[in-house]
Amino acid sequence: MATVLKQPPAATLERLKTAIGAKGWTADPAEMSPHLLEERGHYRGRAALLLRPATTAEVAAAVRICAETGTAIVPQGGNTGMMGGATPFEHGNEILLSLSRLNRIRALDPLNYTLTAEAGCILANLQKAADDADRLFPLSLGAEGTCQIGGNLSTNAGGVQVLRYGMARDLVLGLEVVLPDGQVIEGLRGLRKDNTGYDLKQLFLGAEGTLGVITAAVLKLFPRPREVETAFVAVRDPAAAIELLARTRSGTGDAVTAFELISRTALDMVLTHIPGTADPLSAKHEWYALIDCSSGDSGGGLREAVERTLADAMEAGLVIDATLAASAQQGKAMWRLRDSITEAQKPEGGSIKHDVSVPVSSVPAFIAEASAAVARAIPGIRPVAFGHVGDGHIHFNVSQPAGEPKQGAPRDAYLARWGEINRIVHDIVARLNGSISAEHGIGRRKVDELAHYKSPVEIELMRTLKRTLDPKNIMNPGKVVVP
Ligand SMILES: Cc1cc2nc3c(=O)[nH]c(=O)nc-3n(C[C@H](O)[C@H](O)[C@H](O)COP(=O)(O)OP(=O)(O)OC[C@H]3O[C@@H](n4cnc5c(N)ncnc54)[C@H](O)[C@@H]3O)c2cc1C
Repeated sequence: MATVLKQPPAATLERLKTAIGAKGWTADPAEMSPHLLEERGHYRGRAALLLRPATTAEVAAAVRICAETGTAIVPQGGNTGMMGGATPFEHGNEILLSLSRLNRIRALDPLNYTLTAEAGCILANLQKAADDADRLFPLSLGAEGTCQIGGNLSTNAGGVQVLRYGMARDLVLGLEVVLPDGQVIEGLRGLRKDNTGYDLKQLFLGAEGTLGVITAAVLKLFPRPREVETAFVAVRDPAAAIELLARTRSGTGDAVTAFELISRTALDMVLTHIPGTADPLSAKHEWYALIDCSSGDSGGGLREAVERTLADAMEAGLVIDATLAASAQQGKAMWRLRDSITEAQKPEGGSIKHDVSVPVSSVPAFIAEASAAVARAIPGIRPVAFGHVGDGHIHFNVSQPAGEPKQGAPRDAYLARWGEINRIVHDIVARLNGSISAEHGIGRRKVDELAHYKSPVEIELMRTLKRTLDPKNIMNPGKVVVP
C-alpha cells in the first residue's frame, strides 16, 4: 500500500474548513507552531491545516472528506507523547486533527462507578470531577495537567498506579470511535459484563491514532482512598526491593498502589539540580524504594501494617533504613524526588532513554546485565535506573560519562550512539521476555525496533488489521506499523 504523500489540493482544504466552521481551523503558522513540535524536541513537523472539531459529528465529517480525497490525518491530544506519534511528518502533506475542543464530561454515574468523557478532556480535570463525586479515577502521570484522555487511551498510558488499577486499557468500559472512512462506532456502554464476541474497543486502545479517532470513552471509577501511606526506603539492592514488594503486597492485603525504584545516581542528580529537595534519610544508600499504599478504611490499620512489613523486612536484611511520611506534605516531598529525575538528568548532558519492562522477578537481572553491557560499550556511562518496578517497568536512562563536557560535540557524539545503545539494552530485554515499550508506545520513533523484535506472525497480523480498517492508509501513516 502506498503511503499518502500528496499535498491536499486547495479544494480539499476548503471543504474541511467549511465542514468544521470558522472556529474550528487555523493555518496560522504561529498558532500551529506548538502543535508541530514533539515533546522532547526530536521532531518538528509541518501540516497543511490544523483542525479543531468540537463534536463527534464534526470529526466524522472531516474524516469522511479525508477518506474521499486520500488526505492523511494526524490526531493530536495534549501533544505530550514521547514517541513522535502526534507530530506530522516534515513533508507537510498531512492534516493535524486536534481534539482539544471536544472536551465535555458527558456523564458521571457514581452508582455505576463510571465517567463518560470526550477525548479532549484534560486528565487532571477528570481526576478532579471524580474526586468531587467522592470517587477515584486512578490514571495518574507527570503530564496529567496537559495530556488528554483521548491521548492517554490511544497510547494506553501507564503511570504510577498501574500496579493496583492497571494501564489505561484496563480503565475503559466503552468507546466512541470515528473509523477511517468516517463511520462512527457508538460504543459508549458502561458495562462490566459484555460478552458479545470480539472486544472491538481494544483495537483502538494503544493504537496511537492509526486505526481511528477516539472521540469519547466510558471510564471506570473506584472508591476514593481514605488513608494513604508513603514510605521512602533504603533497600539492600534491586533484588531486595522486589522481595520487599512481594512482602508489602501480602502484608498490607494488597494495598500497594505504587512501588518505585530509585538509584542513588538518580537521587544525587535530583539533590544537585532541583532546588528545595532534601535526602529523606540521614545516610547515603545505593538503592531506594518509594512506596504508596492506600486503603478505603481511615482507621490507621494500614500504617501499622506498613510499619510491621518494613520492620520484618529490616530484620530479614532487605531494608537498611526507612521513613514513613508523617503528613501528606511529606509524602508529596518524597514523590517530588521521584518525579524530578528526568528534569535533573538534563544538566548532566546527553541521556539515552529506554522505556522497557520485564517480568517483575527479572528486574534485578535486567538492571545488572544492562548496566554492565552499556558500560562495556561506553566506559564511564552512567545508568540512571528508576521507575515503576512494581509493574516490572524500568526507565533505564543512561547519561553520558561524568567527565565529558555536557554540551556541544561530546554530547552530540554520545547521542549519535542512541540506536547502538538501544539495541544492546533491547536485546537483553528480549532475552528476558520483556517489552521494548512499557508505556510510551511506538509512535514514529520505535517503528523499526518494533519490526525487529515483534514476531513476524504478530507484525503481519498488525499489518493486516491496519490494511483492513484503513485501506487508504490515511490514519496517522508511518506510525506504529507500516502496512
Ligand atoms: C512529564 C511527562 C510525564 C509522562 N509520564 C508518563 C507516564 O508516567 N506514563 C505514560 O504512559 N506516559 C507518560 N508520558 C507520556 C504522555 O503523557 C502519554 O503518552 C499521554 O498518554 C499522551 O497523551 P496526549 O494527550 O498528550 O497525547 P498526544 O501526545 O497528543 O498523542 C499521543 C498519540 O495518540 C494519538 N492520539 C491522541 N489523541 C487521540 C485520539 N483522540 N484518537 C486517536 N488517536 C489519538 C496521537 O496521534 C499520538 O499517536 C509523560 C509525558 C510527559 C511530558
